[in-house]
Amino acid sequence: MKVSVFGTKAYDQDYLIRENRAFHHELIFLEAHLGPDTAALAQGSAAVCAFVNDRLNQACLEQLADIGVTVVALRCAGFNNVDLAAATQSGITVVRVPKYSPHGVAEHAVTLILSLNRKIYRAYNRVREGNFLLDGLLGFDLNTRTVGVVGTGNIGAVFCRIMQGFGCKILAYDPEPNSQCENMGVEYVDFNSLLTRADIISLHCPLTPATHHLIDERALSLMKSGLMLINTSRGGLIDTSAVIKNLKTGKIGYLGLDVYEEEADIFFEDISDKILNDDVFARLLTFPNVLITGHQGFFTADALASIAHNTLQNLADIEQHRPCPNRISAATTS
Ligand code: NAD
Repeated sequence: MKVSVFGTKAYDQDYLIRENRAFHHELIFLEAHLGPDTAALAQGSAAVCAFVNDRLNQACLEQLADIGVTVVALRCAGFNNVDLAAATQSGITVVRVPKYSPHGVAEHAVTLILSLNRKIYRAYNRVREGNFLLDGLLGFDLNTRTVGVVGTGNIGAVFCRIMQGFGCKILAYDPEPNSQCENMGVEYVDFNSLLTRADIISLHCPLTPATHHLIDERALSLMKSGLMLINTSRGGLIDTSAVIKNLKTGKIGYLGLDVYEEEADIFFEDISDKILNDDVFARLLTFPNVLITGHQGFFTADALASIAHNTLQNLADIEQHRPCPNRISAATTS
């Protein structure tokens, strides 16, 4: 199948080219992000391949359909950036990679927790400058702390298992509890109980209209003072302005983010020579207890190989009219 692969970096190309030896699709690599302004670049392709910050709204999908694109292959799990109802209306099939390496993202959430707790980012800089003072680096034992996990699907379940290894008590909230987690001894509670009881809260649910700004002023008011909040899922789960207010008062003791609600204009690019125009993001960067990474949770060699393989397999399944388990529609919830 001829596929226009949008928003590609060298690492995407490396893994897609390597995995494509077994599939023989015709891959056209484009640096541009996919959106209404760039959809025309897919002229001549039967499929487009898109990533997390491409904008597949109705206007984009209609244009794709007009130029003969019939398949959108997402090389990611989340699909909050695709208007699935509009895709159906335009006769476009959408596939994704629901599970590539839940370990990579779960381990990254743990990395943020450990780094924030023991202030590794500050210690690293101090030691390089010959400053071996410990003041300001005080951490706490994770053992016996209560961790609240919002969403216990593929990633959340791995995260629960890792945190149990540290001796943490795990609470979870998920409308569809995972029997694997229940068997591990994870205690499912309602959302408000999780907010009030957890010392660390980690978000692992999808971004949907129902979960947009799940962490808002009300949710924050129920949380323990000084808690640690971790988001490796999607930026829109958090009302960033409310979070900044609570960082200023000290209610939030630690904030670890791999995603940000306005990340599309910032992440995955080198903007170090440019003026940062996002004042909310700039404010976040000023707090000593905030650690931000630029959506790198998925970025492991294992995950990239799996994403590339499954994306190409999805395209082959659709091309050869085989049932594709990774097809999604407006009825898909997570
Ligand atoms: P999944 O579909 O396996 O699990 C999601 C879970 O969230 C499901 O169990 C679902 O029932 C639950 N859920 C749905 N609505 C909820 C709600 N209102 N409250 C609590 N739980 C709810 O997905 P996954 O593979 O575990 O991925 C989770 C999310 O991680 C994805 O949606 C994606 O946004 C994000 N992600 C981030 C990266 C990264 O690089 N940072 C990479 C992959 C995925």
